[in-house]
Amino acid sequence: MSIISKDISKAVDILNADELVAIPTETVYGLAGNIYSEKAIKSIFEIKKRPFFNPLIVHIPSVDILETIVSHIPEKAKLLADAFWPGSMTLVLKKQSTIPDLITAGKDTVAVRVPNHPVTIELLKQLLFPLAAPSANPFGNISPTKPEHVERYFKNDIDMVLDGGACTNGIESTIVGFENDEPIIYRLGALAIEDIENVVGK
Ligand code: AMP
Ligand code: MG
Repeated sequence: MSIISKDISKAVDILNADELVAIPTETVYGLAGNIYSEKAIKSIFEIKKRPFFNPLIVHIPSVDILETIVSHIPEKAKLLADAFWPGSMTLVLKKQSTIPDLITAGKDTVAVRVPNHPVTIELLKQLLFPLAAPSANPFGNISPTKPEHVERYFKNDIDMVLDGGACTNGIESTIVGFENDEPIIYRLGALAIEDIENVVGK
């Protein structure tokens, strides 16, 4: 039987039980679990065969939740979030002490974004916790842009792929970090430098 389903409430139940669901985003499908569940986060690394020193991106339903994840929001981070969320930009900021070391690979910063996909935003709104969600592919394999790709990779490892259709852009998010409250590009992705400079200057 196929593990692909559009049932958001089933995804909520699985995630509440500390298990994983593959979720659609505008970039690629992600392998998602509760950021506060050690069991869920460990299984993300195990199923993907991802090294533990590679930190995960935290997915939230809106900028309103950001202050529960990070301890300091520079003015330019606020401007960028208002301009590009939901969307393919990830902010790396000082973490709250409540964010587990497994998520951040022991760093004092955490990567966070609001994905631009209506199904996943609805899912995140129905959960009491954010989701860690690296791409839903085994380490070193091509990132999945369709639910069928994820099913092929992981049908023996997870119970559900939340069906959000084909991903529209297929390119990773652009990652922006901060030093002395000034933005620095850590990884160039779907969002262009010019778009960022239009909001915060060069
Ligand atoms: P992805 O592979 O698209 O899930 O993105 C994860 C990537 O985000 C990691 O490989 C890092 O490059 C980056 N990242 C996550 N957390 C941090 C952090 N705290 N500081 C710097 N980069 C981070
Ligand atoms: Mg990846």
